[in-house]
Parts: sequence; structure tokens; C-alpha cells
Amino acid sequence: MISDRIQQMAPSQTLELNAKVAELRAAGKSIIALNSGEPDFNTPAPIIEASHRAMLEGKTKYTQTPGILPLREAIARKLRRENKIEYAPNEIIVSTGAKFALANAFQVMCNPGDEVIIPTPCWVSYVEMVKLAGAIPVLVPVAEDNRLDAGAIERAITPKTRVILINTPNNPTGAVYTEESLRRVAELAVAHDCYIITDEVYEKLIYGTTPHISIASFSPEVWERTLTVNAFSKAYAMTGWRIGYAAGPRELIKGISAIQGHTTSNSTSFVQWAAITALEECGAYVENMRRAFEERRDYMFERVRKLPGFRCPFPDGAFYLFPDVSGTFGKRAGSRVITDAPALAGYLLDEAGVALVPGNAFEAPSAIRLTYSNSMENLIEAMDRIEAAVLKLN
Ligand code: PMP
Ligand code: GLU
Repeated sequence: MISDRIQQMAPSQTLELNAKVAELRAAGKSIIALNSGEPDFNTPAPIIEASHRAMLEGKTKYTQTPGILPLREAIARKLRRENKIEYAPNEIIVSTGAKFALANAFQVMCNPGDEVIIPTPCWVSYVEMVKLAGAIPVLVPVAEDNRLDAGAIERAITPKTRVILINTPNNPTGAVYTEESLRRVAELAVAHDCYIITDEVYEKLIYGTTPHISIASFSPEVWERTLTVNAFSKAYAMTGWRIGYAAGPRELIKGISAIQGHTTSNSTSFVQWAAITALEECGAYVENMRRAFEERRDYMFERVRKLPGFRCPFPDGAFYLFPDVSGTFGKRAGSRVITDAPALAGYLLDEAGVALVPGNAFEAPSAIRLTYSNSMENLIEAMDRIEAAVLKLN
């Protein structure tokens, strides 16, 4: 019998669906996957070349657990230049994806029974990571238009609140939080002596006028309680390389490093060398990808907002649309009834051959998530199929 802890863990719905997609494709079905959020582009060539070079040069051994010094120095330069935050290399740890840095952060910050405030809708893995650390997720819905609701966060704070988690640009809503709202959250964290974890993995994918702001840049009081998490996955199309990082006060970084020392050790050596090339030489590639995503966002938004029963907020960042689909609940196609978001996602998978993630995975049961990180050709085909299937509902 497996442990209670793992029995209570829901598998990652964004990733699990990939297995279902593979199974349907193997059975000869044409499936367009708009479920898992990852750039469809290949990793920029200079990054691939840098990793190849590093391997040929013998950089294939264990490295220091928190990562090679030249990469941590490059990350420190990036955070100073782009995010206006000062970190020394020993205040940075390189991890096997932002995912591992985040999972470890909760272990380091929380004792059993501590509370972690998570604005919802939220990315699928936070709740399970918090539970794995023995802590309690406290879900706080965002305001209308997916704006961060500092008032609601304040009301959710208790003496047990240990962490406030922020994710901007947001997965799944695509919202980019304003400086004003982030300042209010920062004040709350200082006033109530809690940590802040800020997940900034989509910082490069912004299409509107609200700039990305790193909460740790506000003041030394905010800096000393904040862990800034970032990744290479989304910005540099490096999802499969598994590399991300966290920056924060030394004791937090030492704690995360202690866990890594007993679990994964360092993130892959030659991937770390390639990550330096990503940070220092690949700005133009990132901008080209951002432009392509913006064009797709515009196309998809226009199509999705016209679907009967769908209400879609306009997203400013990341690569997701997150429409409320409660207007389809209760409708039918033949004997099939759309009872809820999983039923709609199931219907669209069977009827349209398009894989989407029901909002339940993101603590928002009246929505579904579509990612537009796919080719324009596939997106057009997917929307034609979704539209035809939705129009059959009555
Ligand atoms: N945070 C968010 C909000 C994400 O969407 C993802 C997606 N994978 C991650 C963290 C993890 O990124 P990584 O691939 O670097 O582990
Ligand atoms: N973050 C992406 C998503 O939400 C990739 C899958 C995952 O890591 O959850 O779809």
C-alpha cells in the first residue's frame, strides 16, 4: 500500500493528458494538443551548440550542487539588469526546472500545518507541492478581470500564514499583475512577517502595456522575505532540458541546496553551460517567439470569445486562454450532457480531437484552459473543430 501522502496527491493534469493524447494518436485519431503549455519552437541553435561544446569539452561531471559559478554569476547579472534585484551568486540555486525549486521552497519555508496563500486560478502543481510539504493551501480567488485581490489576501491571513505565493504573468489566466497590486501584497507580507514566493517563469511573454515587475525589487524588507523563481523553459523553449533557478536570502538557498544535495544533486552539467548562452546571447530569439505568441493570442482570443457559452478575459501574458465555459453547462449533443468543465473537455477531445485542460486542475471549475503554444496552422484547425463541436450543443 502506498503512503497516505501520495494517495492524496492528484497527478498533474496538464502532463497526464499527454499520455491520453499519445494513446489516441496511436489508435489513429488526429488530436491537436492544446493541453500542455510549452513552446512549440525548438530551442535556439546557439544554446544547442553550447551544450554540445560543453559535452565535448568534458563538462559532463557532477558540478557544485547549487550550480556552476559562471551560471550563477550570469543569473545574478540578468536579475540586476532586467529585474532590478541584487543577488550574490551564493544567493542563487540552479535546479532541475523551476518546478523543483518551487517544490523545495515549500519544504524549506513551511512546517506542518503552516498556511500558504495561493491566489486562484493557479497553476496545477502549487497545491500538491504545498500539501507534500505538510502545509495547508489557502485558496484566494482573484478579483474580476483576473486582477490580484490584495484585500482578499489580507482577509485570508492568519497567525499560521507562512507564505504568499504570486505568479505573474499568470498560468492559467494570462494576467500580468500591476505594480500597485504587488506593492500591496509586499506590504502585507512585511506587516505579517510572511515569506513571498514569486514565480516569474513567463516574464518574457508579455503582450500588453503592463510591464513585468519583480516584487523583490521593492525594498530590502521585501527582498529579505522573497524567493524569486524563474526558468529557462518558457522563455528559451527549453522545457525538456529541465533547468530553472531560485534567488533569495542565503538561508533559504542553503535549505534548498541541502534538499538537492540529497535528491537530484546538481542540475545537468552541460545544460548549465548552455543556459549561460541562453541568458547572454539569445534575446533576439526570445523576442521573435514572443511576437509569434502575440499573433496567436490575438487570433485565438477573437475565435474563442465568439463561441456561444464562452466568456473569455483578454490575457496580457503567458500563452493561455482561460475562458469561463459555464454557459455551456447543461447543454447536450445527442445523449451527451455537458455537466461541467471536465465533461466539456471530454466532449471536445472525443468530438473535435482537441485536448484541453478543465479548469478544475487550476482551482477554477467553471473554466477550461487552451494553450496557444502551437503552430498557427494547428490553432486554426483546432478552432475550426472546437467551433463546429460547440455549435452542435443545444
Ligand atoms: N511555474 C509555472 C507557472 C509553470 O507554468 C511552469 C510550467 N512548467 C513551471 C513553473 C515549471 O517550469 P519548469 O519547466 O522550469 O519546471
Ligand atoms: N507548465 C505547463 C502547463 O501548465 C507545462 C506542464 C506542467 O509543468 O504543468 O501546462
